[in-house]
Parts: sequence; C-alpha cells; structure tokens
Amino acid sequence: MPELPEVETIRRQLAPALHGKRISRLRVIDPKWGTPIAADELAALIEGRTFDGLDRRGKYLIFDLGDEVFLICHLRMTGNFLYDADPEVPYQRAVFELDGGHTLRFTDPRRFGTAEVILGGDALDEYFAGRLGIEPFSGALDGAALGTLASGKRTSIKAFLLDQRAVAGIGNIYADEALFRAEVHPMREAGRLQAAQYELLAQTIQDALQAGLDAGGATIDDFRHADGLYGSFQDEFLVHRRAGEPCPRCGTEVRKMVVAGRGTYVCERCQTRPRGASKRRGAAAASRSGQQP
Ligand SMILES: [Zn+2]
Repeated sequence: MPELPEVETIRRQLAPALHGKRISRLRVIDPKWGTPIAADELAALIEGRTFDGLDRRGKYLIFDLGDEVFLICHLRMTGNFLYDADPEVPYQRAVFELDGGHTLRFTDPRRFGTAEVILGGDALDEYFAGRLGIEPFSGALDGAALGTLASGKRTSIKAFLLDQRAVAGIGNIYADEALFRAEVHPMREAGRLQAAQYELLAQTIQDALQAGLDAGGATIDDFRHADGLYGSFQDEFLVHRRAGEPCPRCGTEVRKMVVAGRGTYVCERCQTRPRGASKRRGAAAASRSGQQP
C-alpha cells in the first residue's frame, strides 16, 4: 500500500502538471470509486472546474478544484494516478480529460481506492480531524508529542504507528524501518517506552520517511509515479522484506513475524524483545508468516 512517501511523490509530480488545467470531462469507468456518490453526480460536481492546487494529508491526496470544492482521493492498496499515460493502460477506473488534450487516469487493479467530494474548508478540516493525527513533517512530531499520544496505550508500538489517528502517513514499510532505526521491538507496549526512546522514534520516523521520499517511494505491488516510472526505496530497506538476510547493523539474521496482524521484520539482537512477549507467540507467528503479506 502506498504510504506517505509514495503519495507525496505522486503529489509532487502531479501538482505542477495539473495546476491551472481545466477538467473538460470526467469519465467514471468504475462507479464504485466514488461510492456513495453516483458516477454522473460525481462528474457533474467536477466537470468544468480547474485544478487550483494539490495537497496531501497522511496518505490522502486533496485536489483543490476552486470555490472550496475538494476532491479527496485515497489510493489504498494499488491505486495510481497517471498523467498523459497510454490510453490502453490496464485497470482504469476514472479518466479526467483536461483542456489541451491532456489526461489524468486513475488505475487500480484491486479497486479499493476511493474518491470523495468535500464542499468547504471547514468541512475539509472536520473530515481529517477525525481521521488523521500528527503530520510527520509538520514540525509537531517530537518525543513529547509521541509520548503523550502513546500514553496509557497497551497496544504494540507497531499497531500504534499504523494507527493514522496518532501519526498520519505511516504504513507497514515505514513502521518497520523506523522501529529498526530506533532499536525498538515492534511488540513493545506503546505506552511504556522511555522518554529517550520516544524522542529517538520521532526522529527515525522522519528519517525513514525522508529516505523513502528521496528514493521516489517504494514499489511493491503496483506503485508507480505519475509518469509511469517506479520508486526504488525497496532496494534500500534495512529490514522490511529482508527475512533471512543479515541485519545491516549487527549481522544477525532478520526475522519475519506477525505483529498487529501484519508481516513484520525485526533484528531481535538490535531490537530487544520485551519481557513477557512469549517465544511461543513469536514461533506461531513465524510459522504463519508464509501466508502473510
Ligand atoms: Zn541487528
């Protein structure tokens, strides 16, 4: 699933290409994309409008269509926005026809991506207030903020990082990479890290996300840039998807286990397993890991 660096990579490419372009027609190929808004209703709201800006919150793209009309899109598992792509590109769910013969195509093999129209800046703020927590590069993510958010939480730190209402934009890849960099085991109880660990984790979250951004995101499954090229951060993962390979810090074999229901990669020498997290649970998780993403 595209995470903050992948979505931000798309945003940076599309923003200058789309700016000032008028949408002459919106063809909704898959009506499920805008559910519950009917396809013709969605087209009527959007056709004739001009792209004024493109923002991002967490893993959401926000197309500013002027007059306080916003189109909010989530890519979910396999969504991509392609600019001036081959008209025959597979899995298209919607096509924006723009003035000057340009196109913006939304492709999505697994069809989980969503689109919603929000009217008014206040409604936009309200939409995200209930869904998203701290934006990692807003300047507000530090150890104190992380510690406050995690306070009293008995869930695993991995589950906490995946919760978009705490910190927005982190998914399975960047949670593993940030926890490894901070030398924190993903099974640690979220509310029970030391102040210095929250401080370090706040930093390594930003480091991991920045490394992802610098590489144009990671391409697993189907993530592509707006021009159809692929990200390369998958070649730079320190532990994610590296089960059986040596830890880049100490050489111990990286292990795969299931934490928070997700395939999770750990060096258990660098990231000490918390007392009480049973070996049996880890062993059971490892035996299931072949079926987990
Ligand atoms: Zn290690």
